[in-house]
Formats: sequence, C-alpha cells, structure tokens
Amino acid sequence: MPVRIKRPVRKKKSLLSFKKRTCRFCSGRVKGIDYKDVKLLENFIRERGKIVSSRISGNCAKHQRRLAEAVKCARFISLIPYTKV
Ligand SMILES: [Zn+2]
Repeated sequence: MPVRIKRPVRKKKSLLSFKKRTCRFCSGRVKGIDYKDVKLLENFIRERGKIVSSRISGNCAKHQRRLAEAVKCARFISLIPYTKV
C-alpha cells in the first residue's frame, strides 16, 4: 500500500471570494483629504514612513494622488516624519 504524504493544502482564491476594495474617499466614509489631519494620513503610511500604495490601500488614482500630496505637505511642515529608524 503506497504511503500518502499529506501536503498542506493551498487554498485557491476564487473570483467569488474576492473582496473588492473601494476607495474610502469616493465612498464618502472620509470627508476630504487635509494635510493637517495627521490621524487620517497615518492610516496611509507604513511604520517606516512610506506611503501605502493604492494597490494595498484600495484608493483610486485621483485620491491616491491627493493623499500623496497631503502626506508630502505634512512631512514638509514636520507633522509626519519622512522616515523612522
Ligand atoms: Zn477615490
């Protein structure tokens, strides 16, 4: 009798289980992007200070651009650090 080796089953991501990420700003959950709103901007930066890409955050191109501008502006007036050690 052949011995069957159990392999870890890798779950396939079906199209049905795919969760669509929507832009937070388009859906109206967040009102506008303000460079002074540090709490909001911190949701979109990594712990090292990098801006989270739209592929991960789910932002649309328009709002990702606005957000990046806001983050850069907030960095300039040192509300957000450019980088953390
Ligand atoms: Zn949007």
